[in-house]
Amino acid sequence: MTKLEELAEEEGFRTVDDLLSAYVIDSIAPGICINPSCGYCTEVEPDCRGGWCGECETQSVQSAFVLADVI
Ligand SMILES: [Zn+2]
Repeated sequence: MTKLEELAEEEGFRTVDDLLSAYVIDSIAPGICINPSCGYCTEVEPDCRGGWCGECETQSVQSAFVLADVI
């Protein structure tokens, strides 16, 4: 499972496409920490590539759109 799939599941969507279309008109997006051992999810800017992870205390949160290569 990719981080993007993990995030979609965490947010309650069946597929990645469902998640992306639900958020595409919004100014916020769901994000997930990309560190392999971490599953921290939070809301971030849609183009976020280095959001703060409260678990790892590193700038490792990326938005779903960045993970999907949409932005
Ligand atoms: Zn983390």
